[in-house]
Amino acid sequence: MERYQFQAESRELLDLMVHAIYSQKEVFLRELISNASDALDKLRLLSLTNKDLVPEGHVFEIRLTPDPEKRTLTIEDTGIGMNHDELVNNLGTIARSGTKEFLQQMKEKNASASDLIGQFGVGFYSVFMVADRVEVFTKKAGEKEAYHWVSDGKGEFTIEPTEKESIGTKILIHLKPVDEENGIEDFTSEHVIKRIVKRYSDFIAYPIKMKVIKEENKEKKEVDETLNSMKPIWTRKSSEVTEEEYHEFYKHLTHDWENPLSTITIQGEGTVEFQALLFIPSRVPFDIFYQSFEPKVNLYVKRVLIQENVDMMLPRYLRFVAGVVDSPDLSLNISREMLQQDKTILQIRKRLVKKVLDTLSDMQQKEREKYKKFWQEFGMILKEGIGADYENKEKLLSLLLFESSAGSEPVTLEEYVKRMKEGQTEIYYLTGESRKTLEHSPYLEAIADKGYEVLFLTQAIDEFMMSAVHEFQGKKFRCLNKEAIEEKNPEVSEEEKPVIEKLQSLLSDYVREVKLSTKLVNSPSCVITKAFEFSPHVRKILGDKYPFGDERRTLEINPKHTLYERFKSIYAENKDDERLADIAHLLFGYALIAEGTPLPDPAKFNTVLLKMAEKV
Ligand code: ADP
Repeated sequence: MERYQFQAESRELLDLMVHAIYSQKEVFLRELISNASDALDKLRLLSLTNKDLVPEGHVFEIRLTPDPEKRTLTIEDTGIGMNHDELVNNLGTIARSGTKEFLQQMKEKNASASDLIGQFGVGFYSVFMVADRVEVFTKKAGEKEAYHWVSDGKGEFTIEPTEKESIGTKILIHLKPVDEENGIEDFTSEHVIKRIVKRYSDFIAYPIKMKVIKEENKEKKEVDETLNSMKPIWTRKSSEVTEEEYHEFYKHLTHDWENPLSTITIQGEGTVEFQALLFIPSRVPFDIFYQSFEPKVNLYVKRVLIQENVDMMLPRYLRFVAGVVDSPDLSLNISREMLQQDKTILQIRKRLVKKVLDTLSDMQQKEREKYKKFWQEFGMILKEGIGADYENKEKLLSLLLFESSAGSEPVTLEEYVKRMKEGQTEIYYLTGESRKTLEHSPYLEAIADKGYEVLFLTQAIDEFMMSAVHEFQGKKFRCLNKEAIEEKNPEVSEEEKPVIEKLQSLLSDYVREVKLSTKLVNSPSCVITKAFEFSPHVRKILGDKYPFGDERRTLEINPKHTLYERFKSIYAENKDDERLADIAHLLFGYALIAEGTPLPDPAKFNTVLLKMAEKV
């Protein structure tokens, strides 16, 4: 017999479970049935390509066997099973990062177990809320050896080889004494078990069977009863399914612990027949930006699961949407590669995208608070769609929310356009690191007196997104801190030319071009980026990986400002005066600070500043 210690995080979670003062301890059964159903799914999927894995006459089922005398409950499945190493890893450590985050959150919030268990699918370990000891017997499909795992949930478990006839997993729970006040009902009672299964696991696609005593012709007989309707929830009329049932299904599908933000049902009729049930989660999955992220969309053909985590059903910018799609028009043995080109899939995908975007649009119009919550979580991912989904570009643009100079409430483009001032023909925006720097930006001076509203774009993705956006409802976008493509340089007189050239030569390490500004009013200077270049804060985020080429930008000078006038008059007296370099660095430093960009040579700027200060 081998002895193992649970991994540290597992011990924490187990300790929580053993001592949980949580009233809904019955959820342990939901978790174990959900695991059993997953194991059956895995076996069924593998058997599609490897027929030998499943013995002749194999029945895919889950069986519950209560024993009131011994106070045990057994949950047995005929699924994939686990081999020795999987047993050690899956039941001894926490593989799910979500669980680690959950523990972290608990510590940070100093929350009690009962506050959080209710919102959290705690998985296998939840069995220790109701058990003194748990035994697992398991045999993996395709392997000969079976193993017996035992633990009392107090830090250790043991594993030894055992005999087991059929493949799959059997979990034998030695129940704690009944303690109704603390949520430990009699989990060996037939009606208690039936109630729990109905409540949480009715939609499970495999029969959940239990032996019950039935009276027939005054004779008592033991018969098998299937406790769940097995009716896939997406095939039922949505008017006949309760919200709670949808939520339970969502949790089973995604292993999320929170209810979804939105449930979407779609019936496809006509050219392609299909049913789909989609969910928008309440929170962004922690791994959504990983390359390895897989959307939780499962594909069925006539109620038979044929592929899990299919990324073809929805575009990448909707990868947070979870759900199931079922169509009789698909082939049962369609491969992942074939999905890419399958016409039926593409047609279904189009419908799904439309419905999801319409649902979001509806939420934006009618439930703004809820939509703001959605936006907070998923806005950044949705923005990826703007440059990628040409067909839905206008719709996606309408879904955007922006911070704006008009107040703290985020606005849509439609709202912006509606309240544009008379004479205003363009949609103005600024990009930068934070709302705070943008609010005091010199770029606003150009339009400040006109009272135009300006959108503040502060996420890294915004500049990428805007490079694909040119207009909305016929109104062009105008970025105030970028050079407009059609912008003409103001005329410079012959006598001023050498002054500007001097300024340019003094700053040539940092500035590609010096121009006189037509926009600045109070500020002496600002830096602007060329229309097709990224601003410094985006460059910083992209890091060294991106070949930027020449990083220097354009410095715009306010010709009416005293600082520039001073530069001119000194230059007229002596072209090599040292003070010219000082003023040049002051103009450049001012422009960078106003924009929120770090100075390339702060020491130099400070020296100049102190030199000037001495003259105050
Ligand atoms: P989760 O199911 O969310 O991954 P659990 O703690 O419930 O977390 O289970 C951990 C892992 O143990 C599962 O991912 C699965 O690999 C394995 N497992 C649990 N129950 C079974 C079962 N009945 N049959 C096969 N594998 C199982």
